[in-house]
Amino acid sequence: MLTDYHVHLRTDDLDATAAAAFTAANAERYREAAERAGIAELGVSEHIYRFRESLAIWDHPYWREQAIDDLDAYCAFVREQTDLRLGLEVDFVPGREDRTQNLLERCELDYVVGSVHFVGELAVDHDRYDIWERARSPEEVWRRYFEMLAQAARSGLFDIVAHPDLVKVWGAARPLPEGDLRRYYEPALEAIADSDVAVEVSTAGLRKPVAEIYPAEAFLEGALAAGAPVALSSDAHQPEQVGFGYDRALELLDRLGVGELATFARRERRLEAIG
Ligand SMILES: [Zn+2]
Ligand SMILES: [Zn+2]
Repeated sequence: MLTDYHVHLRTDDLDATAAAAFTAANAERYREAAERAGIAELGVSEHIYRFRESLAIWDHPYWREQAIDDLDAYCAFVREQTDLRLGLEVDFVPGREDRTQNLLERCELDYVVGSVHFVGELAVDHDRYDIWERARSPEEVWRRYFEMLAQAARSGLFDIVAHPDLVKVWGAARPLPEGDLRRYYEPALEAIADSDVAVEVSTAGLRKPVAEIYPAEAFLEGALAAGAPVALSSDAHQPEQVGFGYDRALELLDRLGVGELATFARRERRLEAIG
C-alpha cells in the first residue's frame, strides 16, 4: 500500500484562502489524483504557521504574515468533510516544546510531521529569510541544521521527520560543504536511533533546484540501519503533485530493501507492506 501523508491543500501563496482550499471539492481533487497514482493512504498536513494559534509558539515575521487560518476549523473540516488522514506539518522551535505540545493537543491528529525550515531566525529554504547570505560558512549552516533536526527527532513531538536533508534544497545555487557530507548526518542519525520516529522519504526535492529525493541515500541508509520506519510522501501543494516522482522513490526503497511503509491513525503507527 502506498501513502502520501505530507500534502498541503493550501498553497503557500498568500492570495490563496482557507475558504477556497478547505472544501470537500478541493479534497476530492487530491483524492482523485491519489487514486490515479495508486495511493490508498492520503493525508493532509498543513503548515502550523498558517494558523493564528501558532503565534503562541513563535512570533516570527514570516509566521505573523502567514498565520491567518483557524486551526480548529481546519481539523473539523478534514474530519467532517473528507476521508483524508488529519495531520499537521509542524516546525521544531527550540525551547518552545511545551507550547508546541499544547497546540498539538487541541486536535485529535492522525500524525504530526516535524520539520526544520528555520535555523535561528533565518531559513534554509526561503529566499526572503535566506540564511546563506548571512552565515559564516556552508559548514556552519549544515552543522546547525542537522543539530536542530536531531533535537526535533528527540523532542518526541513528531511522528515523522520531514524532508530530512532539506538543507540541500538549493543545489548548486548555494555553497555546499566540501567532502563527504555524512559527517553532518551523524547527530541526526544518532537521535533517530534513540527515538521512535519515522523518517520521511520525500519526492519534493525532485521539484526543487537540487533535483534529488530527500534524504540522500547515505542518510536513508543510516536511518534504516538505526531501525527507523519510512514514511513516503510528495509534499504536494497541488493535486498534480500527489505521488510525484514515486517511481524514483520506490526504486530507491526497493534497492535498499525497504518493503514496508509507516501508516498512522490517531498517532498510532503501523507498518504496511508496499506490495
Ligand atoms: Zn516543509
Ligand atoms: Zn510541506
